[in-house]
Amino acid sequence: MTTVTAMKCACDGCRCIVSLSDAIMKNDKPYCSDACAQGHPDGAGCGHTGCSCG
Ligand SMILES: [Zn+2]
Ligand SMILES: [Zn+2]
Repeated sequence: MTTVTAMKCACDGCRCIVSLSDAIMKNDKPYCSDACAQGHPDGAGCGHTGCSCG
């Protein structure tokens, strides 16, 4: 079995890849940022280049 060390952010609109060591885990899903983990309550994106989530 391969150990997965990086996954796409679990936020739908987000294209960021997060490594599991830095991911923000919420409900067992990895998110790239607090904004994604909270479901973008303020409409704020994660702020990563090239990503238009939020
Ligand atoms: Zn994003
Ligand atoms: Zn994200």
